[in-house]
Amino acid sequence: MVVTGGSSGIGLATVKLALAEGANVAFCARGADRLNRVRDDLAAAYGEARLLAKAFSVLEPEANTVFAQEVCARFGGCDALITNAGQGRVSTFADTSDTDWRDELELKIFSQLHPIRAFQDQLRASGTGSVTAVNSLLAYQPEPHMVCTSAARAGVQNLLKSLATELAPDIRVNSILIGLVDSQQWQRRFEARPDQSQSREAWFRDLAIKKNIPLQRLGHAAEAARALLFLSSPAASYVTGAKLELSGGVSRFI
Ligand code: NDP
Repeated sequence: MVVTGGSSGIGLATVKLALAEGANVAFCARGADRLNRVRDDLAAAYGEARLLAKAFSVLEPEANTVFAQEVCARFGGCDALITNAGQGRVSTFADTSDTDWRDELELKIFSQLHPIRAFQDQLRASGTGSVTAVNSLLAYQPEPHMVCTSAARAGVQNLLKSLATELAPDIRVNSILIGLVDSQQWQRRFEARPDQSQSREAWFRDLAIKKNIPLQRLGHAAEAARALLFLSSPAASYVTGAKLELSGGVSRFI
């Protein structure tokens, strides 16, 4: 299995779960320090031989190609690609510049395109190949404070639907739609909270109430990882072009 953005949050939880389930796992992230720390911890738990970690940005096409070659040389191919790398951008229409728009559209679209292009031959050869994207509920339910990310996420969902047709029958393409999952992104926002005396537990509880999440909490990265492993595995062999919500029930569409 290959996981982009595997050094933190949902990506890291997915790497860990896949290793625990017995898969060989390759993962990437931009920051080499954190990536190498994570790789060392995982190697101690699961053995060096089942892991490949490489520091690069998924926005660099050539780096994706080299990574795919290394994965093939090490593990003989790739059965499942999880396109997870990225982050959200908090901005309204008024405070998003053209440069911000271009950066966000590039991040969201090319963080899918580059890894999928690099791994598609291996996925096709696998016999059970799958791409599973980590996308956001914002694709269907835009938020005014995340205008640019919401529009980009909708574009990604549309792209994945096209790929589910074009890459069939060899490669299944699905997505999960994340609401709010407790991860490094939310940790950063917690650390920047206006009232620095507020505890982590209280801040996250207030956030869940403010966001009207029926299950009254944020999701855990491990919960997203379970959904990703299901969709990417042969257990979901008749599922393609589909989306699975992980939002604690916060979506308002049917
Ligand atoms: P984290 O910040 O915890 O993890 C993001 C991971 O992606 C890190 O390993 C990061 O490492 C890596 N990454 C970011 N940009 C790149 C890049 N260009 N190339 C390679 N690796 C990259 O975030 P989450 O786990 O919360 O987010 C995972 C995905 O889920 C993201 O796409 C995010 O937008 C999406 N999502 C998350 C939500 C949430 O509530 N958590 C809500 C909706 C969507 P490094 O910085 O070192 O590159």
